[in-house]
Amino acid sequence: MRIAFIGLGAMGGGMAANQAKAGHQVAAFDLSPAAVARAVEAGCSAAGSAAEAVADADVVVTMLPAGPHVRSVYADAIIGKARKSALLIDCSTIDVESARAVAEQASAAGYRVADAPVSGGIMAADAGTLAFMVGCEDAVFADVEAALKPMARVVIHAGSAGAGQAAKICNNMLLGISMLGTCEAFALAEKLGLAADRFFEVASQSSGNCWSVSTYCPAPGVGPQTPADRGYEGGFATAMMLKDLKLAQDAAAKAGGTTPLGAQAQALYALFDAQGYGRKDFSAVLQMLRGRLDELS
Ligand code: NAD
Repeated sequence: MRIAFIGLGAMGGGMAANQAKAGHQVAAFDLSPAAVARAVEAGCSAAGSAAEAVADADVVVTMLPAGPHVRSVYADAIIGKARKSALLIDCSTIDVESARAVAEQASAAGYRVADAPVSGGIMAADAGTLAFMVGCEDAVFADVEAALKPMARVVIHAGSAGAGQAAKICNNMLLGISMLGTCEAFALAEKLGLAADRFFEVASQSSGNCWSVSTYCPAPGVGPQTPADRGYEGGFATAMMLKDLKLAQDAAAKAGGTTPLGAQAQALYALFDAQGYGRKDFSAVLQMLRGRLDELS
């Protein structure tokens, strides 16, 4: 299969490499020459522009920062430049409105198109174990799933255009809220003289259990290994969580959704980010709630 890969950053670099590893011909483009050079080292070929990358492609994958980037790359370099038989898949996390607009323009021009944002960070991108949530027509899904396979642990069909983005921001809003709830509970447990490992034992086997407690516990030295055990390095950056919470709030405002806890979560992560901790894992917000930011390097 000939794949065009546009956007070779922290996520796209590893994803493009996994397509090359699977034996596909990957024409890679990024505005950063260093990112293109890394992709070439991983077995991709360098394209001089996005339009050049897509010219002969069977599948076009984009992994770009945000909605405006996806809109402009689709308008300037994909629609009308890729062959009509090409399958267009955007894996970036963007606003639902942009995803639907791009899908509408691409479909009107005769392309098959899907939004397929991912769950899992840079390590999962490198390992080829991302979870994809896909918005596309039923008839297109099997081809999307096959194209994403070298980069995926699981590919889930969420619904029609934009449904992948909707699933992603709803999931991450829930995660942001549940992590804050978990952090508040651990911080209060400490104030009440309850040892973190005892509280973990109780909460992980009681009705307070959730993924943020049992799998990604924000308290160091408790439960399975998490970013909390390595100074909150790696994992899912606070700035990324903040981006997704903003997308959720924007989407809720446009759709008339009521998301007061999502709004509160956005405000708390914004406060943490503004204090210079945007690169720390999002579970490090525990240290702010404990009043122990001095423990973060
Ligand atoms: P990144 O900033 O590392 O990479 C984005 C890349 O896009 C950069 O290399 C940039 O040069 C390139 N780019 C920007 N505009 C371009 C254009 N017009 N043409 C070609 N290349 C262009 O970001 P990332 O961490 O790889 O994230 C990519 C997407 O994946 C984002 O939407 C993000 O929200 C989402 N995401 C990230 C993570 C994560 O942990 N990093 C996890 C899940 C989803």
